[in-house]
Amino acid sequence: MNVETGKKRAKGAAEEAGRSHDLANVRNIGIIAHIDAGKTTVSERILYYDGHIRRVGEVHEGNTVMDWMVQERERGITITSAATTCEWPAVASADMPRCQINLIDTPGHVDFTVEVERSLRVLDGAVGIFCAVGGVQPQSETVWRQANKYNVPRLAFVNKMDRMGANFVAVVSEIRERLKANAVPIVLPMGEAESFAGNIDLVSMEAIEYSEEDQGATLRRGAIPEGFSEAAASGRMSLIEALSDVDDAVAEAYLSHGDVPVEVLRRAIRKATLSSRMLPVLCGTALKNKGIQPLLDAVAWYLPSPLDRPPVAGTDVRTGGALERAADDGAPLSALVFKVAADGFIGRLLYVRVYSGKVSKGQNVFVPRLRSRERVGRLLKMHANAQSDVETLFSGEIGAIVGLGKCTTGDTLCAENAQIALERIEFPDPVMFMAVEPRSRADKEKMQEALQTLADEDPTCQVRVDSETGQTILSGMGELHLEILRDRLLREFKVAANTGKPMVSYYETVTGSGQASHTFDRLFGDRRQAARVELQVGPGERGSGVHVACKLGRTELTPEFTDAIEQGVRDAIMTGVLARLPMTDVTVRVTGAGFVDEDSATAMAFRTAAIMAFREAANAATPELLEPIMGVDIVTPPESTGDVMGDLSGRRGQVRELGVHGDMQSAHADVPLAELFGYSTAIRSLSKGRASYSMEPKGFAIVPKAVKEAILNR
Ligand code: GDP
Ligand code: MG
Repeated sequence: MNVETGKKRAKGAAEEAGRSHDLANVRNIGIIAHIDAGKTTVSERILYYDGHIRRVGEVHEGNTVMDWMVQERERGITITSAATTCEWPAVASADMPRCQINLIDTPGHVDFTVEVERSLRVLDGAVGIFCAVGGVQPQSETVWRQANKYNVPRLAFVNKMDRMGANFVAVVSEIRERLKANAVPIVLPMGEAESFAGNIDLVSMEAIEYSEEDQGATLRRGAIPEGFSEAAASGRMSLIEALSDVDDAVAEAYLSHGDVPVEVLRRAIRKATLSSRMLPVLCGTALKNKGIQPLLDAVAWYLPSPLDRPPVAGTDVRTGGALERAADDGAPLSALVFKVAADGFIGRLLYVRVYSGKVSKGQNVFVPRLRSRERVGRLLKMHANAQSDVETLFSGEIGAIVGLGKCTTGDTLCAENAQIALERIEFPDPVMFMAVEPRSRADKEKMQEALQTLADEDPTCQVRVDSETGQTILSGMGELHLEILRDRLLREFKVAANTGKPMVSYYETVTGSGQASHTFDRLFGDRRQAARVELQVGPGERGSGVHVACKLGRTELTPEFTDAIEQGVRDAIMTGVLARLPMTDVTVRVTGAGFVDEDSATAMAFRTAAIMAFREAANAATPELLEPIMGVDIVTPPESTGDVMGDLSGRRGQVRELGVHGDMQSAHADVPLAELFGYSTAIRSLSKGRASYSMEPKGFAIVPKAVKEAILNR
């Protein structure tokens, strides 16, 4: 008896041991910022202090672990967001258990905002990094808005405190004004610029200094130096005041004891952060190795675990009803594929976030989109450019799956007996394209394969062949995006290809509705092929893409014929009626279809009838051209504002918002992408180099008549 119980207990314990960290101690964190604020440098320090890497890499030396693609190291920017797992604190203490921190380094450049977007979708919390000199830069506003959209609790880190002109107080008030966040420092800088010596911790009321010898790895906590005691006391007071509004325990403790115990403060900061009622602000210098450990502590103390986040939403695959899944290993599996990457050695990797249940090596998972069961090969935890095999990924964890060859970004993986489809990640239509041509016949096949791999990894990269010219067209989110794709083609896939000039992608749509019925009837040799299709074409909401409904109710048509009709419509949509451009934001409803006589009905006849009917109906539905519009954020010195605005209206720009940004002026405008070629040079010369800007794709708009004429006559 006893022996058996003992065995059972042992087995139970082993099963539980499968999970390396309690769910409450998991942090899925993104780092978001304006380009060059120091995301990569901060991430690199995090990996160093947690013991994952032995030597700190530097962005300017091109040897960081996080930026591991050749193109990233050369340009010193981050393109792909690498998901990295690390642990903090290095040694657990009584009041702080070890946390598993899954860290995503996101790129700052506008061409890759979709990377930021999909990271935010699967993360629970974020750290916003700001430059102590630059403050709230245009791109930081963009990413902040994205994080607002997903309701992500955040911390702020003011980096580069070592730089001349660093001004912590100014950056904090800029965050309050421009980002409308309740920014409250929880540490203060000791000194600024070359005299920056470390931090004052306003929660523990200690001074923190970092040793120079081991790149800041050892830190000393001690009494607050005389010269900073006043600033510390008033910083602490502001913190207590801010928290009193959120947590009665803080106000009570203060009123009865004149101070607040550390645990009470921490609980209140956590509560305020999780509900986004306060933005705790820290500071330091990643490059000079100061201030990173307190930031990691704050991630562990204050940012959410998966348990603190609302349950993930989806739909019941069978009934279409709304469903929710809370983070719980015992619940049925639900996981989202948020990224696909091709690894030269391992093969195709699917990055997943597990929301509920768990997934193990060798297991079958159900994929609602494919309506099929697929087998999980290896499971990996990623450490920047290295990885380790694991048996199981649990609720709240992020990892990579090898296998599941048919799955792609946005797919849900779930239990077959409890099917759920999580909301798909929406990707914008590409806004630029270029022609790609293989240099030799030998390169042709290799090029097609390589392009497919690139498009598979990156949902904003699309490949198509122009039916008229036979040219291969590669589309993406901007000039830099296309340049990087071309570069990878050459170096990673060793394909010799010539590329054309990047050009703006226009689309076609309809603004009215039209309907048509077409009977196709023709003799091919001695075989007659005939069928009739009737359909309606109408406008869809801007950004809604293409919707085809082919529900014919009770008809004599076989599934083969209905598939042929739908295929015909989808093919027709690829080449619009005005300028053979792909159409978008259209809805098509097939309202009728039938035989001319039973013997002559073929799939080819239905397909062709559908194409012809679509073209007639689309022509009747007032077709128009669509062009990509960029949201442009500009910061300019007042003396150049007039010139910059004049230039903007010459570019068909529409100013949406004007503001003040310190002693500079800011503007937000919508400008057609086609008018933005050469904008960086123009704005530099208009402002003697002092204005700066950033932009993000904002959507598509109907092209004005004069411009439409010019495009159609080209
Ligand atoms: P990212 O674009 O946000 O990933 O920024 P990076 O980490 O690539 O850093 C941009 C540049 O700023 C690099 O040249 C870094 O060496 C530099 N940098 C990063 N952190 C600091 C800092 O704390 N102080 C100073 N002076 N420079 C820094
Ligand atoms: Mg970077």
